[in-house]
Amino acid sequence: MKCKKCGRPASIKLVVYNLKLCDKHFLEFIESRVENAIKKFKMFTRKDRILVAVSGGKDSMVLWYILVKLGYNADGLFIKLGHDYQVSPAYEKVKKLSDMLNRPLIIEDATEYLYGLSTFEAAKILRRPACSFCGMVKRYLMNKAAVENDYDVLVTGHNLDDEATVLLGNILHWQTGYITRSYPVLEKTHEKFVKKAKPLVLNYEEHIKLYAKKRGIDFLPTSCPFSLGATSKIYKNIIRQLEDEQRGITLSFYLGYLREKENIFKIEENTPQLHSCEVCGYPTTAKVCSFCRSRRRLQEKLERKNSI
Ligand code: AMP
Ligand code: ZN
Ligand code: ZN
Repeated sequence: MKCKKCGRPASIKLVVYNLKLCDKHFLEFIESRVENAIKKFKMFTRKDRILVAVSGGKDSMVLWYILVKLGYNADGLFIKLGHDYQVSPAYEKVKKLSDMLNRPLIIEDATEYLYGLSTFEAAKILRRPACSFCGMVKRYLMNKAAVENDYDVLVTGHNLDDEATVLLGNILHWQTGYITRSYPVLEKTHEKFVKKAKPLVLNYEEHIKLYAKKRGIDFLPTSCPFSLGATSKIYKNIIRQLEDEQRGITLSFYLGYLREKENIFKIEENTPQLHSCEVCGYPTTAKVCSFCRSRRRLQEKLERKNSI
């Protein structure tokens, strides 16, 4: 088995692309797909200040590594979603990468906004599904951190499998609004809504994992314990089964969406008008944003609990 690029012995066979590559050319191949996504979707340039939301998992760690390697001006953001003992393994991995890349790391502590509770504890009190509540808090704090620290764009580690999974879920429930908005790049539409981008959308999760291992990037192997049993896990497994049966189906499903989106869905009519939240000033489609509404409800519940 020979590397298609250099003819030396290949170490990896990427069936989906019908490519056999040596380690060096595999790493370059993954990096070039990230660069392609950045250019194709006009995500950012080397002049922009980029904030990478880094969880400690393989995707966001690889993303930060690749962006810095490609010469982008990328700093890290870690959001503490729980108490120190719960988040320290993730934080340590992220801090180690920050030191290795010699790039600054911003820390946002969600518990400070949730009256000292972790997102999991707050979700339980609010009787909200932990995963969606935590997602809402993360999105809010990511945007806030990017706005307050003057970044041009916020990037996350969502990969091809993640995006195909979300797309499948949205199609199954015909969430047309979400379908049109889950694009690899979201433009700034409000003074406090930073541009968002997902530079890993053209890379399979399996290949990102392999990249991390070959580069020696020390990531946290476990996924979030609170998301176990979430419906998205079922959809992800279905996508994986489909991919096992038909190599390349995930990529063609997602690329087909990107190609056909404008023909199938009328984007303008689906784009909600963003106002400034009456409480915090960050963008929302309602009067008060869901973050502030949750905080208010949480405060009421805690006060009631304390007065009993
Ligand atoms: P998830 O929603 O957990 O699948 O994560 C999606 C993306 O959000 C990751 O690839 C990261 O870019 C970002 N992210 C998730 N959790 C955190 C966190 N605690 N701190 C910073 N970024 C995060
Ligand atoms: Zn080679
Ligand atoms: Zn608000």
